[in-house]
Amino acid sequence: MIPQAAVQAPLPWQEPCWESISRARDVGRLPHALLVTGPAGVGKRLLVALIANSLLCSRPGERSLACGQCRECELLAAGAHPDYVAVGPDPESKSGEIKVDDIRRLAESDALTAHRGGYKVIVLDPAQNMNANAANSLLKTLEEPSADTLLCLVCEQPGRLPATIRSRCQQLRVPVPSEPLALEWLHRHSDTADAVILLRLAHGAPLSALALAEEGRLPQRERAFTGFFEVYAGIRDPIAEAAAWNEHEPTILLDWLAGWVSDLLRLASGHPAPLLVNEDRVQDLRAMTESLDPRAGHRFFQRILQARASQYSPINRLLLYESLLVQWARIAR
Ligand SMILES: [Zn+2]
Repeated sequence: MIPQAAVQAPLPWQEPCWESISRARDVGRLPHALLVTGPAGVGKRLLVALIANSLLCSRPGERSLACGQCRECELLAAGAHPDYVAVGPDPESKSGEIKVDDIRRLAESDALTAHRGGYKVIVLDPAQNMNANAANSLLKTLEEPSADTLLCLVCEQPGRLPATIRSRCQQLRVPVPSEPLALEWLHRHSDTADAVILLRLAHGAPLSALALAEEGRLPQRERAFTGFFEVYAGIRDPIAEAAAWNEHEPTILLDWLAGWVSDLLRLASGHPAPLLVNEDRVQDLRAMTESLDPRAGHRFFQRILQARASQYSPINRLLLYESLLVQWARIAR
């Protein structure tokens, strides 16, 4: 991961976001509430950190970027700035919800007044984890905004926020960069030879691609793919393979599996040169399409998508992998 403190400028694909915020600030029209959206791995939190730092810094420099040296910047870097408040789920909480008490604390007038005479920045992350009571409580705060306070909601799934909250925030969408721009950035931060595959696996999100490289995910995916291929070929027992898959979290494994099956279906549809996620396994995938019944493939794909929307404990995760692989072996026959 890129440490937040090391980032002193927006990421290349965030420039338009930065420009729009800087311009709004220059003309005194910064919103009271900003909803920062975009998929995982595009740097939403880095951007929010830059915005917060810029607003709290006592002598921002070129392009309104924080100086990194004044007392305010030092306090913020040390995690001790009284006018920067981060609200998130209690790390101990099982539900991962942001609760009403967290929001109420913000709403107390003292919490909304800047201590050091400048801006106050409140970051709510991940905003979609607010429960209904918390969201209602936040709404009251949004209806009575304090001057010189910026509330930043960081959210991957804005559709999960109540419309009443969304409509009271200005949305700032951090985009997925073009592939050439993302690759250029990735090559600057990693010496991986698999940048294209990593980026496709990360759905184009550069920070996720970098994390995949640093976590050594490619060899793991390679092993899981080999199992997927061999179960289909009838030379590997699905139950044994499920036990091997069980080392992976469903969020990771189901994402790989969805990518393999969707590539298979794309190849089977016969469109010329489809853009594949798993370019490196195209030969194996092509070989599999020869005996694949596309309708069964589509049903299997739906099943994966359903599984992705569910939560799994370690016990039913193994059951899930077993049932998916048994179904996959049956499709092959
Ligand atoms: Zn500063």
